[in-house]
Amino acid sequence: MRSNFSKPRGTRDILPEEMEGRRKVEEAIRRVFEGYGYREVQTPTFEHLELITTKSGEEIRRHLYHFKDKSGREIALRPELTAPVMRLYMEELSHTTKPVKLYYFGNCFRYERPQSGRYREFWQAGIELIGSPYPEAEAEVIALAVYALKGIGLKFDLQIGEVGVLREILGCSGASDEDQAKVMNAIDKGEDIDILLTEIGIPADDRKLVYTISGLVGGKKTLEKAKKLLENNEGVMARLERLSRVLELLEELGVTYQLNLGIARGLDYYSGVVFEVYAQGLGAQKQICGGGTYTLTDVLGGEPTPTCGFAFGLDRVLLALEAQTGMAPVKKTRVLVVPTSEDLLEDAVKICSIIREYASCELELMRRKLSRALSYANNEGFSFVIIVGDEELERGYVVLRDMEKETQREVNIKELHRIKF
Ligand code: AMP
Repeated sequence: MRSNFSKPRGTRDILPEEMEGRRKVEEAIRRVFEGYGYREVQTPTFEHLELITTKSGEEIRRHLYHFKDKSGREIALRPELTAPVMRLYMEELSHTTKPVKLYYFGNCFRYERPQSGRYREFWQAGIELIGSPYPEAEAEVIALAVYALKGIGLKFDLQIGEVGVLREILGCSGASDEDQAKVMNAIDKGEDIDILLTEIGIPADDRKLVYTISGLVGGKKTLEKAKKLLENNEGVMARLERLSRVLELLEELGVTYQLNLGIARGLDYYSGVVFEVYAQGLGAQKQICGGGTYTLTDVLGGEPTPTCGFAFGLDRVLLALEAQTGMAPVKKTRVLVVPTSEDLLEDAVKICSIIREYASCELELMRRKLSRALSYANNEGFSFVIIVGDEELERGYVVLRDMEKETQREVNIKELHRIKF
C-alpha cells in the first residue's frame, strides 16, 4: 500500500527495530555521561535566529532553516545544541557553583544536500563543561567522548588540534577576525586557501607558514616540529604548551590520539583546543564527533566563562556501529499468549496482565489457530508461548512452550510469576 504522501527530503522514518538499537546505544552513552557527573537538559527545538547566527560560522548560517512566526519574530530551527545550551545556562544556571556539567540529546536541522550520513534532520548527543579554565577540564572532556564511544564498542580515530594557533598566525599577519573566520572555514571544508590568503594580503612567508602548520598531522613529534617553526611567536607558544599539557593528561588517561593542527572546525566560536573523531568503516561522512574549547557567554551578554564540550552525530554513530559490527536487531524476551478458542479470551487477557507485571508480553490479536500462532511466534522471535486451553484451565494450569528449546510443560497459573522469561 502506498500513501499519497512521502517524507520531506533529507528526513527519515525510524522503524521499530532500528529504534530499539538506537535507544540501547543512547542508554549506554547516557550512562557514561552521568558517570562523569553530567546532568541532562532539554532546550526548545527552535530559538531566536540571532542566538543561532551569532558566532556560529558561515557553514551553519548557510544551511539554516529559518522563518518569521505569526508575530514577525525571526525564528530558526536549531542546527546544533551548544548555543541553545549556553543560552539556557545564562538564563537559568549562571549563578550556580562551577563547574556546571550538562548533557543533552536532541534533533537538529540543517538544509544540506542529503546523502548517506548527512541529513536535514539528525540527532546529536553532547556535553558542555562550563566554568573550568584548566587543561584537566579539556582532557576530561576528550576522554569522556572516547570512553562513551568505546563503551558502545565502536572503532574510531581521534584527532586533536588547536584553532587558536592558525588564527593567531593569521592575526599577526594582519588578517581581521572576519578574514580569519573565512580562512578557517575554507580549511574546514578542505578547500584550497591559496587565492584567499593572497586576497586577504597575507605575506608570502606567512602564507607558507599557514600551509605548513595546517598540514601538520602525526604523533607527539609533530608538536615539537610546530614549536620549532613558531618559537618566535609568544602567544602561539603559550597555546602549544597548554596543548602539550592536555596531551600529557590524555596519555595518563590511556587515550590514543593523532595531533592535527589543521583542524579548523566549522563553528566560529571555538577558541582553543579542538578535536574530531572519525569512525572506521564509514565513507565521506565519517566524522562522528566534534568538540573543543570556546567562550560563548560573553557573546550572549555575560562574563566570559571558559567552556569545553562536544557533540556526537548519533545517526553516524549508529551507521558506523552497523558497518563495523553488523549490529544485530535487539532481541527481547517476549511472551505470546494464545487462547485456543474465543471463549478463553478473557482468561488469556488476565494471564497477560499477570505476566506484564514483570515481563513483556503480547496477546494473539489476529485470532490465529494454535498451529499458525506457533509458527507466527517462531518467525517473530518470541521466546515463549503460553497456550490457554480449556482442559488445563479447568485445573488452574496453562501450557508454557519454550520456542528455542522446542519443549513445553504445564504451569500452575499461581506459579506463573516465578518463571524467568
Ligand atoms: P557540528 O555541530 O557541526 O560540530 O557537528 C557535530 C556532529 O554532528 C558531526 O560530527 C556529525 O557527526 C554530526 N552532523 C553534523 N551535520 C550532520 C548532518 N547533516 N547529518 C548527520 N549528522 C550530522
